[in-house]
Amino acid sequence: VLDFSFTPAQEEYRGRLRAFALAELLPGYGERDAEGRYPYEQVRAVLRFAAEFWRGRETERDLIVSGITAEEVARGDFNCVLPSLGPALQREFLAGASPADRDRWLPSLLAGDAVIGLCLTEPEAGSDMGGMQTRAERRGDVWVLNGEKNSVSFLNADVFYVFARTDRDSRDWRGLSAFLVPRDTPGLAFERYEDMGCRAVPRGIVRLTDVEVPASAMVGPPGGAFPMIRHFFDVNRAFIGLKCVGAARQTLDETIVYVTGRVQFGAPLATFQGVAFPIVEAATHLELARWQCYRVLWMRQQGIPCATEAAMVKWWAPKVAADAIHQCLLLHGHQGYSRRLPIEQRLRDVLGWQIGDGTPQIQKLIVARSLLGKGAAMR
Ligand SMILES: Cc1cc2nc3c(=O)[nH]c(=O)nc-3n(C[C@H](O)[C@H](O)[C@H](O)COP(=O)(O)OP(=O)(O)OC[C@H]3O[C@@H](n4cnc5c(N)ncnc54)[C@H](O)[C@@H]3O)c2cc1C
Repeated sequence: VLDFSFTPAQEEYRGRLRAFALAELLPGYGERDAEGRYPYEQVRAVLRFAAEFWRGRETERDLIVSGITAEEVARGDFNCVLPSLGPALQREFLAGASPADRDRWLPSLLAGDAVIGLCLTEPEAGSDMGGMQTRAERRGDVWVLNGEKNSVSFLNADVFYVFARTDRDSRDWRGLSAFLVPRDTPGLAFERYEDMGCRAVPRGIVRLTDVEVPASAMVGPPGGAFPMIRHFFDVNRAFIGLKCVGAARQTLDETIVYVTGRVQFGAPLATFQGVAFPIVEAATHLELARWQCYRVLWMRQQGIPCATEAAMVKWWAPKVAADAIHQCLLLHGHQGYSRRLPIEQRLRDVLGWQIGDGTPQIQKLIVARSLLGKGAAMR
């Protein structure tokens, strides 16, 4: 039977996590943005909250639960979401790491004491990951990495997951391997960007100059980085969709309260069709996007390939979320434009994730190729 319900435990978790996010995360969301301060304490608190809730029933703690975490944490603080996703995601992310590296990093990542940064994008390789030029050369027992990564979120990370070319004759994604590089490794240099949104999570450049890591730092097989990350992207795209939907849905809830109470022309704003219909449209789009995100997570859990569906939600969910938040901002009038409300910040934060993890055009290429064949949308 087709069943769209969450389990009683998932429903209880959602309710309690939402209350927690609104009480503990939302009040400092703007301040952390203004100060560009990473939410260490808040991420630790979410991870503790989730670990306590699921203690004794760990087997129920699956990708759907991580999806609920993404949606509900985003209602409080969009920037806490990715590091708060918990075991289902982190284990998938580090599945190919050596047992020693997993033991070293997993416990501290799951406690929020350590942060991990993903280093793919380069000056000459954005959407076209096959163009990466960062190299790793084998010298005896070590790999030596040289190159530049120029769009690394979590620039404050304790460990970086770095893609580098290990097959010097390759020109595409087939010669790429992944490495775990601890922050204190000699040869790393950092430069932070001033971003319009997600300002609590530093993003910027990581330069690697003769960076040496042991052979065991390679994650997965040589040349296997791209298939590994593609597998991870599928679920991460659903999480990105859900965090955008969560931020937008919270804004919509606030807007419903506002337009119900605000009186103009002798009546509450909600009684005007021109106010009610944009709310209805936003609610409809968000509801559809949300279920498609959960469907991707469900498909992955069932072992069903979901790259196309994940690409669909990655271009669609951040877009409808940004559109909904924009509408809500307008419905708040001048108050919505002010930093006294979190709406403008949510709009800035969500916009970045239309780009991060793959732009709308790249997602549409993935969908086009699945619908129309490999040669589709080539120019
Ligand atoms: C908030 C945020 C967080 C990010 N975090 C990370 C991170 O942690 N690690 C990391 O490695 N990277 C990260 N990125 C980088 C992100 O993955 C890249 O920005 C993205 O893949 C696009 O690459 P680019 O910016 O170089 O754009 P380009 O690839 O140069 O593209 C520029 C424009 O051209 C379009 N375009 C490109 N190729 C085609 C085509 N074939 N057909 C049609 N249109 C095309 C794109 O859609 C885009 O609109 C982040 C970016 C943002 C904004």
